[in-house]
Amino acid sequence: MRKVMKFGGTSVGSGTAMSRTADIIMSYDCQRAVVVSAMSGVTNSLIEMMEDRSKEVPEHLNWLRGKHLDAAKDNISKELMPQYLEDLEYRLSGLGHLIHLYRQDEDRIMYQDAMSSWGERLSSLTLSYILRSRGVDSLALTSEEAGIIASGPPGNGGADLQATEANLRRTLVPLMENGKVPIITGYYGCDARGRPLTFGRGGSDYSGAVVGYGVDADEVEIWTDVDGFMSADPRVVKGARTIVEMDYGEAGELAYFGAKVLHPRTIEPAKRKGVAVLVKNTFNPQGEGTRIHSTSPTGKDMLRSVALKTGLSIVKVYSSELVYQPELIARILEAISANGVTIYAVSTSLSTLAVVVPSDSVDDVCERLGKFRSEVEAIKVKGDAALICAVGDGMLDSCGVSAKIFTAVADVGANVELISEGASDIALNFMVGGSKAVDVVKRLHELYIGG
Ligand code: ADP
Ligand code: ASP
Ligand code: MG
Repeated sequence: MRKVMKFGGTSVGSGTAMSRTADIIMSYDCQRAVVVSAMSGVTNSLIEMMEDRSKEVPEHLNWLRGKHLDAAKDNISKELMPQYLEDLEYRLSGLGHLIHLYRQDEDRIMYQDAMSSWGERLSSLTLSYILRSRGVDSLALTSEEAGIIASGPPGNGGADLQATEANLRRTLVPLMENGKVPIITGYYGCDARGRPLTFGRGGSDYSGAVVGYGVDADEVEIWTDVDGFMSADPRVVKGARTIVEMDYGEAGELAYFGAKVLHPRTIEPAKRKGVAVLVKNTFNPQGEGTRIHSTSPTGKDMLRSVALKTGLSIVKVYSSELVYQPELIARILEAISANGVTIYAVSTSLSTLAVVVPSDSVDDVCERLGKFRSEVEAIKVKGDAALICAVGDGMLDSCGVSAKIFTAVADVGANVELISEGASDIALNFMVGGSKAVDVVKRLHELYIGG
């Protein structure tokens, strides 16, 4: 049995959490590789460091040092502490150097991925020393040392699975076969020039799946702060239930459309090799959690889970008989999706093309659409929209499901702004105004899942 265990920000967020995480890792004796996120709050603070110049570099480093030392103090043995302190200072000085460089030349794109990757370098080091203090033969490995190869736009990279697999067979597999427990930095890989490239916020889940792919794991475990993949975000719907078993398709759609419990790209590497993904709660390890694999139980309910993605905008391009100009549509879509902008839905009518994009990319998108002014009649943006994704395998096979779902929308007085049905066999996606979105999710859950 070979496992990859990924622990999220809250699972390594304090000394107590790190100690629990160490207990969980030690409760198995199969081959294990561990992937970690930064301690919760650290990635945000690294990003803020780039924006906020009011604090001097040593002040930022002091905060990070304090946070990690606090987690280390009761967990790392007296014998290992001096060596840990030395390694921690070495990594902190690397970050200090990077901040100085950034402050000198302000090339944000050049530095943002490297700087925001630093939290994982600190947390992986700390957890590996905690395990070593308990007699586990563990070592910290950065993504560079492990050989996780990535490509793509800054802040939104994807792994090169083949190249990464070739490297991990050489770097990680022999360690695991020799009983060592490597603790690897999540969240980023390195590009062709060896520079850090992050996988987008929440990207350590994806790192876990990439490592699982590369080492041919039997299972990838995602350890987080809730009891598994649930029927809705438990922070939004109090009665949300754990889904014990799901298939890759269901989990993939929900993750893509807002279920933050998994980074949207986590499913793909696992699915390619048929590796099961388990979602478990670090704070309730006895709980069953969720098993995601190639099949889902039969006799399912109409609706299994609802995801919500806020912070979206609908960009509408008007031009008479637009549908008869496929070449123009193609050029518009290409302009919208440049610079790695994600398109969440597209809908056309005779004279309108409606495209859903993240609100924070709207200025950028509109600037690029400027060049179409002479070819189209108008471009309008509707901000503050939210996308709701209702998922159930086989759900769309039954007659009248959409009508039932839209009853819930009407019940709370919301308007459907755009619908995408049929693109996937298992999901029905629609947009509503941001202010009503939570009410729609709650009502849908109440009517068709319960609780
Ligand atoms: P981690 O730091 O462990 O990666 P995240 O905060 O990224 O944790 O993801 C876990 C959070 O995802 C949960 O606390 C929960 O609020 C949220 N979440 C959203 N949708 C779901 C869902 N369908 N099932 C479970 N959790 C969800
Ligand atoms: N630390 C990164 C983030 O906060 C990656 C992760 O936690 O998965 O986005
Ligand atoms: Mg996460």
